[in-house]
Amino acid sequence: QYYFGAGPAQLPKPVIIQLSKDIVNINNQGIGIGEISHRSKLAQDIIDNTRENLYKLLSNNGNIDIEDIKKQYDVFFLQGGGTTGFSSIPLNFKKYNQAQNKKGGYIISGSWSLKSYQEAKRLGCDVVPLYNDKEVNGEFKGSYTGNYETLLSKHDDLSYVYVCENETVNGIEYDQTLKELAKVCKQKNIDLISDLSSDIFSREINIFDYGVIMAGAQKNIGIAGLTLYIVKKSILANIKTSGNIEELPIAFDWNLQNDNNSCYNTIPMVPLHTLNLVFEHLLNAGGIVAQEKINFEKAEMLYDVLDKYSLEGNNEKKFVKLTVSKQFRSKMNVVFNLKTTDLENDFVKKAEASGFSAIKGHRSVGGIRVSIYNAVKLEAVESLIKFVEEFAEQL
Ligand code: PLP
Repeated sequence: QYYFGAGPAQLPKPVIIQLSKDIVNINNQGIGIGEISHRSKLAQDIIDNTRENLYKLLSNNGNIDIEDIKKQYDVFFLQGGGTTGFSSIPLNFKKYNQAQNKKGGYIISGSWSLKSYQEAKRLGCDVVPLYNDKEVNGEFKGSYTGNYETLLSKHDDLSYVYVCENETVNGIEYDQTLKELAKVCKQKNIDLISDLSSDIFSREINIFDYGVIMAGAQKNIGIAGLTLYIVKKSILANIKTSGNIEELPIAFDWNLQNDNNSCYNTIPMVPLHTLNLVFEHLLNAGGIVAQEKINFEKAEMLYDVLDKYSLEGNNEKKFVKLTVSKQFRSKMNVVFNLKTTDLENDFVKKAEASGFSAIKGHRSVGGIRVSIYNAVKLEAVESLIKFVEEFAEQL
């Protein structure tokens, strides 16, 4: 049985085993992790430990100095998911932007960045779309490929540029061009804000490229109920002086939450503890460097077999339609269509009968989506590839 769901997603087996024990009895206290006060010493220790482990992961196996990261970035966790991030980001910047005559620029490369932009607009925040791939290409196929210097030079009043680094629904993930965007942002003193909900800790990132990282936990790093924020201290200081507390929903106030060790209100301890178990698991398994290697291998193998049967190729059994441009293919969510809807239904049915579940595409786009997050093992992808080959044989 192999599970390829897009989220909530599979967790590493050792994490689930430990979690099930801790739900009943954490640290031999005779009580479960979901039952203790978030203000207890044990809970506070877990929160601190989670943050420490997160800093370790951000150091890319020690290649970046952890003390440097700590000097520049704060980390806090709030109740919620990705969507609460869509609201809290523009709201935290709202007053600051008003005072500075600035706005947030959004690069729209799929459903989630579009939703995030729409939410900022709905909340009356000053935001502007910088690029919309659907408007350019008719459907979401990738992201901006031009010169970022040129793109950003059209706006001289941006405080931040927002991207969704992996579009979970559309199967679109940034490549090296993100580094270019980060570089241009830095030159222009603009903060890069990224939604990393579906690819955080799947590969190395350079934390210093970012102003804010926001991620819902329930894909690569845990279970639903929690949003992770990594925010540059200078941003927290700027928005604090703007006096935004008057307008912000109190639970969204980044400074208030950060000043209270993520405990201004009740932090959900089960998701938080799960996050920490995942972090410990990742660190014990060779850190992000090792995880990235496996993830790249899984994605490459899977795309190879799909390319082999691509409708654009010469294989006499060809049946696969890949719409995302090669440059932006997601290494987390492999999204594709088949020649006909009937064939897609047949593929999903046969896959399920063979033990491969949750591969149906998102309801808004249809097709097939195979999510191969960190916890999905190489062996699962190898088995699925075998299934694809057998399916092609029967055509
Ligand atoms: N951002 C991304 C990249 C996502 O994949 C999702 C959910 O799948 C969201 C945001 C929204 O997250 P939530 O459902 O936790 O609000």
